[in-house]
Amino acid sequence: MPDTEEQKQKNIQLQGIGVSSGVVTGPVFLLTTEEDRVVERSITEDEIAREVARFEDALIETRSQIHEIQEQVREAVGPESANIFDAHLLVVDDRALVDEVIRGLSVHRKNVETVLRLVADHYTQALLKVKDDYLRERAVDVRDVTRRILRNLSGASTTTMTQLEEPHILVTNDLAPSDTALLDKEKIIGFASDLGSPTSHTAIMARAMGIPAVVGLHDISVRVSTGDEILIDGNTGVLIIHPTREQLERYGKVEESRRTIRSSLTRLQGEPAETVDGYHVLLSCNIEMPDDVEAIKENGGTGVGLFRTEYLYLSRKSLPTEDEQADIYAEVASKTDPDPAVIRTLDLGGDKFLSQLKMPAEINPFMGWRAIRFCLAQPDIFKTQLRAILRASKHRNVKLMYPMVSNLDELLQANALLEECKTELREQGVAFNENIDVGVMIEVPSAALSVHLFAPHVSFFSLGTNDLVQYTLAVDRVNERIAYLYEPTHPAILRLIKNTIDVGHEHGIWTGICGEMAGNPLMVPLLIGLGVDEFSVSPSMVPMVKDVVRKLKYTQAEELAEQVLQSETGTHVMDACRDLVRTIAPEILELVS
Ligand code: PEP
Ligand code: MG
Repeated sequence: MPDTEEQKQKNIQLQGIGVSSGVVTGPVFLLTTEEDRVVERSITEDEIAREVARFEDALIETRSQIHEIQEQVREAVGPESANIFDAHLLVVDDRALVDEVIRGLSVHRKNVETVLRLVADHYTQALLKVKDDYLRERAVDVRDVTRRILRNLSGASTTTMTQLEEPHILVTNDLAPSDTALLDKEKIIGFASDLGSPTSHTAIMARAMGIPAVVGLHDISVRVSTGDEILIDGNTGVLIIHPTREQLERYGKVEESRRTIRSSLTRLQGEPAETVDGYHVLLSCNIEMPDDVEAIKENGGTGVGLFRTEYLYLSRKSLPTEDEQADIYAEVASKTDPDPAVIRTLDLGGDKFLSQLKMPAEINPFMGWRAIRFCLAQPDIFKTQLRAILRASKHRNVKLMYPMVSNLDELLQANALLEECKTELREQGVAFNENIDVGVMIEVPSAALSVHLFAPHVSFFSLGTNDLVQYTLAVDRVNERIAYLYEPTHPAILRLIKNTIDVGHEHGIWTGICGEMAGNPLMVPLLIGLGVDEFSVSPSMVPMVKDVVRKLKYTQAEELAEQVLQSETGTHVMDACRDLVRTIAPEILELVS
């Protein structure tokens, strides 16, 4: 049946940034941040009673939803976690708050949403100023409950992701990495957001989960509603609202052809990552959750080059204990044995925050109290993790590395704390690897220029290009407006990478790369030519990277690196990279954006 005129009119094509490949079509599930959507409206005296009634209905609805969630959590996780919701019920039943909203309707003569927000903001601000930890935490409860009441007032869908009956495409303004980690792959088949860029942690998570995703669409969350049909192409960054039949067919064919290529790459699973002329590359994987380990072997990877352990700390009410962590690290190590398992210490801050730790809001979180800076200031938290990693190091493949080190002092302080932990474990008679390999991430320009100072104190370097690019080029990695400036092939970046590798080799140290650049098949020949010893990529990218490596001659990689080190712009470098891959593995160009 041809498309109707009405359908054609509703059909809109938008361009965002494709960050996780694949085409998918389905109804929208709009996850709104209700607080941002409160529309202020003046009311007359006659309308006050109606607003009070709306408020009371919303409170009843909210109370019953909280009871329902509490029951679900009790069944799924246990009574302790369910008790958390008692605090939410106390907020709904807080007569002082409720009365203040009702009084506020007469005072401000505004709709109930506006008054509720005003009162709730007042409450949270007051609670946040209190010295008592318990009361300060109640501010979070007030915020959560307010959000729920606002949602009920707006009549927006109260369906939660777990209640969806058929698969949907999640559309949102932005999604915290911890929320992405909780997405149910059966229910959420695609992801689109207003904000974000290819190296935002949400995009990284979407890739790890193999969900097609388009980010940086600016205003998609206000253009669509739950139930609207959309199509997203995670390769090209296209999003189509109400796609026409012709578009569905066209994208269907494109996806079919990509699927054929992807499935042909599965034959490489057991093959080594070796160039035509026998140059071997260690092709490891980045993981966020312990279960991700399974995807490494499925995709033909070799061990873990980066375990982002902070995800163990997110989405929970208390910090993971030393025992819990030791078990998880040991499990990952035993599953990857004899291949390496590189465990990165906690990298909080930036775009990853814990609700259970009171980390102050910062204007520049990526340049703030993040990663090793946070850990050195919180030695108890840091040492708990270091001891857990050491305990897991009875599996000899465990290595540890520190994130975001910017000067030698930080590295020496971290190593000193590690020595303290070793002494403590020795005294307790706990087994661990005395000679555990310790590495440092090179992801701050000052670190890339200090590698000669770091080298005597570590066993390896791992280039964190996601951050190295943002800090070197002064381009916020999660800001879609300036994503065009985020150039991993910028000549300055290539120099920093080369310096790290060359200095490492002079000191007998290997250099890996675990930023997203490593998993971009177009850049792989260049990185090999620059001398990278180990690649650590999202498991889903392993087949493509391996395909390129196995069709490449090491000499071609060397020539490419030599040539582009003379290039004046990132675009020239990228063109040269693309030309080489087009010659040796043209099928890959269909799979990358
Ligand atoms: C990086 O910065 O390149 C990196 C791998 O670390 P993360 O993406 O977790 O900041
Ligand atoms: Mg980083």
